[in-house]
Amino acid sequence: MIAVAEPSIAFDACRACGRHDAVQRDCIRGHRIAQCPGCRLAWTHDARIDPATFYDAAYFEDANAPKGYNDYFAMAGAMQRTNRKRLNHIRRVAPKAKSLLDVGCGPGFFLREAVDRGFTSHGIEVSPFASDFGRRELQVNITTGAIDAGSLARVTESPDVITMWDTIEHLPDPDDALRRLAARLNPGGVICITTGDITSMAARITGSRWHLYNLPEHLWFFSPDALRCMLESAGLEVVNISSEICWYTAHYLVERLSYSAGIKTPRIPGASLLKRIPVPLTLFDIVFVTARKPA
Ligand SMILES: [Zn+2]
Repeated sequence: MIAVAEPSIAFDACRACGRHDAVQRDCIRGHRIAQCPGCRLAWTHDARIDPATFYDAAYFEDANAPKGYNDYFAMAGAMQRTNRKRLNHIRRVAPKAKSLLDVGCGPGFFLREAVDRGFTSHGIEVSPFASDFGRRELQVNITTGAIDAGSLARVTESPDVITMWDTIEHLPDPDDALRRLAARLNPGGVICITTGDITSMAARITGSRWHLYNLPEHLWFFSPDALRCMLESAGLEVVNISSEICWYTAHYLVERLSYSAGIKTPRIPGASLLKRIPVPLTLFDIVFVTARKPA
């Protein structure tokens, strides 16, 4: 019998640094994760979803749905603490900024906080459910759609600040999105991005059970180097890279721990109490990057 070698899997060129020698790093629930040995960007192309239908009401608030959050809206109070901290950072790095664009704004809690702090604010959100909620319940200005020419044409004021909180890892084409956003940003303006760090200690220790291997919605897993490469390719200068401490609810932390253990938990004992307890946390696996467009 002649042994037939397994065909080698050819991955695309790295979208951050351009190398062509990506290797398979993991296989998560049937999805192959490729990784660039240079900048450490990792990605999957096996998990394509239709974002306009995937991020529906069930994604945000149905504990029985096999995706998303048990109750996203219960985290509003905890998120407000994180949002205030993020706005304090923006005021430090861009003290004269007046207009803000939040990309992947979800239901718009950050936008609401930005408006209350005096920013002229606009959001872009692919989920019709979330953007409808923001317009209706929070009275914030959100365009429903992808990050494309059509959505950006509806942003009436050129932004001094663009924010992407836990969004870039969801995008089918993050490099293309960054180029479009950089072109729309005012000269001297800043862009702030948070996303998971696949080179972090937490990611390395937990391996295939890393809590941010959140498939099929997460398509990209960044390193600080990969983010820097992609931002610089878009014409931006990185001014700060750090890790972020966020506020969650105790309920959400139990939900994520269960997910990492492979358990979907429709019912968590003491849920109503746990949803009221805000908890600050970092596993030092969220990278927070600030970049500036040259004036
Ligand atoms: Zn690379």
